[in-house]
Amino acid sequence: MVKKIVVVGSINMDLVTNVEAFPRPGETIHSLGVAYLPGGKGANQAVAAARSGASVRMVGAVGTDSFAQTLIDNLADSGVDTSGVLRKEGHSGLAVITVDRSGENHIVLAGGSNKAFGYGEIEGRIPWDEAHAVLLQNEIDWSVTEAVMREAGRRGVPVWFNPAPALKLEPEVLGLIHTCILNETEIEVITGAKVSGADDAVPAAGRLLEAGVRQVVVTLGDKGCVWVGREGEPVHVPAFKVQAVDTTAAGDTFIGAMAAASCEGKPVPEALRYAAAASALAVTRHGAQASIPARDEVERLLADAGR
Ligand code: ADP
Repeated sequence: MVKKIVVVGSINMDLVTNVEAFPRPGETIHSLGVAYLPGGKGANQAVAAARSGASVRMVGAVGTDSFAQTLIDNLADSGVDTSGVLRKEGHSGLAVITVDRSGENHIVLAGGSNKAFGYGEIEGRIPWDEAHAVLLQNEIDWSVTEAVMREAGRRGVPVWFNPAPALKLEPEVLGLIHTCILNETEIEVITGAKVSGADDAVPAAGRLLEAGVRQVVVTLGDKGCVWVGREGEPVHVPAFKVQAVDTTAAGDTFIGAMAAASCEGKPVPEALRYAAAASALAVTRHGAQASIPARDEVERLLADAGR
């Protein structure tokens, strides 16, 4: 049986407008350009894992608006099994993003269908017996995320959690997490420890291990990532040197790629290098799902870099 990565999470349309400078309150300005870009952390991670060759089921919801079918088709085009995606009356998850000339952004998130379903509506769509791991983020209702964590614990399925957007977690919840992948801001919110590089990421991640997490990966942007686990020494993987143009979905690409590598049985250092290469490629392109590379591109970068 081919083991699946199961993602229970958000599916969004990112509506991006580029402007010279942000409008002041009450002001109307003209946009320089508009793009509709499929995103949402759950969907991005599902696409990243699928483009890396994993068998992936997406569990979540879209709305009944005109974006809904586009969002489902986009997942399916990347090879994601969308049979776990519900349709809920109302609008699909929407992120209205304005980006100015300097690259600064303003984002308004409208959860819509992502926040409109309960655990009871999706529990039958999770293929527990085939799951290598279940990937969770923080863009759907917390009650659903927590219920999935608890059921995964009962069934012995590892929970991979990306606490983004950042949230404070009860100590008991940390004990339900097998793998926690998070960036510097998120680990600071959870542990209170300021992290600005690999050195201080290790003790901060250690606090999560003490609370019951099995392995932690702290992503550090262009400084790479650090892995800390219950067994073995911490591993620091530097970032690949690339020309970054848009870091949207860097973390999501890293997580999906790492999950796919782990599902194949790659050892941790190799899985981390693979994820670092995938996310480095993602930052060289615009958009969320549009920027996520396929496996052959990632393998080419690894080979070219001699890693
Ligand atoms: P998030 O998107 O969650 O904030 P990070 O910014 O930490 O996550 O990025 C995730 C991963 O993406 C990093 O660990 C790194 O491997 C890769 N990455 C991010 N920015 C760059 C960059 N400028 N150059 C190369 N790789 C990058």
